[in-house]
Amino acid sequence: DHVANQIAAGEVVQRPASVVKELIENSVDAGATEIKLILKEAGKTLIQVIDNGKGMSDVDARMSFERHATSKISKAEDLFALSTKGFRGEALASIAAIAHVELKTRQHDVELGTHIVIEGTKLVSQEVAVTPAGTSFSVKNLFFNIPARRNFLKSDNVELRNIIDEFERIVLVHHNIHFSLIHNGSEVFNLLPTNARQRIVNVFGTRTNEKLVPIKENTEIVEVTGFVGKPEFAKKSRGEQFFFVNDRFVKSGYLHHAIMAAYEGLLKEGTHPSYFIYFNVPPDSIDINIHPTKTEVKFDDEQALYSILRSIIKHSLGQFNV
Ligand code: ADP
Ligand code: MG
Repeated sequence: DHVANQIAAGEVVQRPASVVKELIENSVDAGATEIKLILKEAGKTLIQVIDNGKGMSDVDARMSFERHATSKISKAEDLFALSTKGFRGEALASIAAIAHVELKTRQHDVELGTHIVIEGTKLVSQEVAVTPAGTSFSVKNLFFNIPARRNFLKSDNVELRNIIDEFERIVLVHHNIHFSLIHNGSEVFNLLPTNARQRIVNVFGTRTNEKLVPIKENTEIVEVTGFVGKPEFAKKSRGEQFFFVNDRFVKSGYLHHAIMAAYEGLLKEGTHPSYFIYFNVPPDSIDINIHPTKTEVKFDDEQALYSILRSIIKHSLGQFNV
């Protein structure tokens, strides 16, 4: 059972970036207005997330590491089911199974918080602690008990790039939250609360501002906002393409195609435009298949969304073309 737990956790937690994503999303869910991410060696030795969110009681703090699922993982099919469903209610349990985890947390209306140390699902200690209101999770020595996984981690550069990708996907949605990222003692990002456009500029550099064209459209089935890059600034690399649905980063090959169709005839061969597109749709009109490594979305009315998106981008680019 213990081993099965580890394997399952290794399936869902693929790399340091998966831990970062889950911890930061928990901080956002906890209503934090400030979230700090501290990394050492691209998260291989330390991933710490500190927030000023609502915190947890001592009982809830201990419970947060319990697997919500009642059935034990005993068969290969169960492992597969777990890895395809993603980790709803499983993240902290999975992380604790394969790392050394320290949690300090305090609710705003109480004087003392709690400090928990867990190593590979074993509770090492839980004590009353003086700690700031909010929550701090430290995840050390990821995959200490799964050498195969640990050995398959990529270079620090690559793992850090993966972390920054996840970080960007979150900060571009939650521009009202103050985020910072410190790697090996150096500040990589310090993003003060701001509006959507300025957050993009703060992440990708001041020169981004002149490249962006705003888009905005309200229809029965979707509210579209965001920015697309002017075609003349399109790049050889595909880095700055972001599509969000109801505040989650998702991938849709179909709607990417709609965006590219709007740029038809405007791009130099082999270049890729930037886009930052935010969809708001009724939750029951989409089917999000959350997978640990990719988030794909399926819309009820895909063809209508395709033409709405294509025409609003085309129109907006046309207005700014001189
Ligand atoms: P899920 O987020 O799907 O509920 P997790 O394993 O990620 O599952 O977290 C378990 C629970 O721990 C959360 O539901 C939440 O109650 C609590 N929790 C986790 N992180 C935080 C945090 N930063 N602040 C407050 N509560 C948290
Ligand atoms: Mg969670």
